[in-house]
Amino acid sequence: MIRVRNVSKSFGTNRVLDDVSLDIRKGEVRCIIGPSGSGKSTLLRCLNALTDFDSGAIVLDDTRIGYTERGSVLKPWTGREAANFRRRVGLVSQHVNLFSHRTVLENVIEGPVQVLGTSRAVAVRAASDLLARVGLADKHDSYPSQLSGGQQQRAAIARALAMDPKVMLFDEATSALDPELVAEVLGVMQALASDGMTMVVVTHEMRFAEEVGDTVAVMEAGRIIEDGTASDVFSRPRHQRTVDFLKDHS
Ligand code: ATP
Ligand code: MG
Repeated sequence: MIRVRNVSKSFGTNRVLDDVSLDIRKGEVRCIIGPSGSGKSTLLRCLNALTDFDSGAIVLDDTRIGYTERGSVLKPWTGREAANFRRRVGLVSQHVNLFSHRTVLENVIEGPVQVLGTSRAVAVRAASDLLARVGLADKHDSYPSQLSGGQQQRAAIARALAMDPKVMLFDEATSALDPELVAEVLGVMQALASDGMTMVVVTHEMRFAEEVGDTVAVMEAGRIIEDGTASDVFSRPRHQRTVDFLKDHS
């Protein structure tokens, strides 16, 4: 469903992504782990057309991300084209990004109503289902400031799902949360995985990667140093650097 082929990207002389190739199948939970600064967030931003890359290709279904192909000529996307694409991809990051002056329900229906042109009544019905799914059935009319961090993050997941994304990207969605709130968010992510959502999950939660991840890629210094099924990577890592990383994060 997603093919990343030989993607490289530099900021100045800093090669942040170095010949990265990765496949993500439909319905797969793809975890990406690795030390700080290894390029995990940058890779997610490339998948979401939030940032461009210098070489290589990323293809989601039939869409070549970042470029329109005209014969053999590649024309970079305009901002509008990138924004259109982004509708099909949900992103939940570390810092919750809800509209603070709108209720939870208004936050969830905003995208469908404003961007997709869904009628308000239909959007409200769908939002109610989604909020029930993330355990916030009783919080429709609350404002984000009235929710715990975990509840806010679950509302952010519902808001992303309201756009009916083809894939959900999570960038350390639980790392800014108090420890006691982490499990409820991981639980929602696990339920989403069981429902068959295609997910790319950058995480420091090794247990989640091991138990919920189908496949795990380990990044270091812009490269994927190990890639395999979750059980292979965790029980039979092939590289000493993976062993060291897992030891530091157990
Ligand atoms: P963390 O676990 O800390 O979130 P990460 O694996 O997500 O790290 P990235 O955020 O992708 O790492 O950053 C990879 C490298 O790219 C780092 O060296 C970072 O300093 C650099 N970098 C990221 N964004 C920019 C930018 N906009 N301009 C310059 N350098 C950047
Ligand atoms: Mg990051």
